[in-house]
Amino acid sequence: MNQTPKIKIKNLMFAYDKTIVLNDISVEFDEQTITAITGPSGIGKSTFLTVLNRLWEGTPNAKMEGQVSILFDDTYRNIYDPSFDLPALRCKVGMVFQTPNPLPMSIMKNVSFPLKLKGCKDRKQISEKAEQALKKAFLWNEVKARLNDDARSLSGGQQQRLCIARALILEPEVLLLDEPTASLDETASTVIEDLLVQLKKQCTILMVSHYLDQVKRIADRIIEVSDGKFFNHS
Ligand code: ADP
Ligand code: MG
Repeated sequence: MNQTPKIKIKNLMFAYDKTIVLNDISVEFDEQTITAITGPSGIGKSTFLTVLNRLWEGTPNAKMEGQVSILFDDTYRNIYDPSFDLPALRCKVGMVFQTPNPLPMSIMKNVSFPLKLKGCKDRKQISEKAEQALKKAFLWNEVKARLNDDARSLSGGQQQRLCIARALILEPEVLLLDEPTASLDETASTVIEDLLVQLKKQCTILMVSHYLDQVKRIADRIIEVSDGKFFNHS
């Protein structure tokens, strides 16, 4: 396994008002691995993911200290450096949420939405990249004949794979997933687990999950969050 850290975090502190949620955490995540982050509800798991794509910024009274560096083009870049381009970060660090959140539009438009947002107008390139992303998300065969159908007509598991495809179309180097299977049945969850194992060849994956059985099956490393700290789960 490639042991280069993709992400290096030093002395991370995160608080909402005066409540410290993450307390002096230093941790590294290797490339081409799946790390599962577990722990009870309200302990700071989702907050931690948002530190990695700066999604928390704008939350009133939230405060962060510490360094978060990610290896991009062979150089560790501090993602909180004022010179770091936020839209570029959001392309390189993709995120998938607990409840599938397709946009009220067709399957094709959903998956290609981030590319269009980036200003890509080449229709051939868009449809090629959409197909690739849907294939990577194990969804292509199920939707190739109905790309113009409303995405909300898909099953929950398919919707979540569509959301994964929508993140993958930008070819992210880091993929954050916040309880991605929490709203799915076992069969749909297993498809997503298999898909994540394939994806780690190209992305560094951090996944919040409540399901220890699940994470033991697919994670290279399990971190338990407790009292503001990270503990390696043996
Ligand atoms: P988890 O994902 O582990 O369930 P969260 O990261 O969502 O936990 O939340 C950690 C703690 O921070 C919780 O106590 C939660 O109530 C609090 N919290 C989360 N978001 C906010 C916010 N926007 N403002 C104030 N407190 C928040
Ligand atoms: Mg959460």
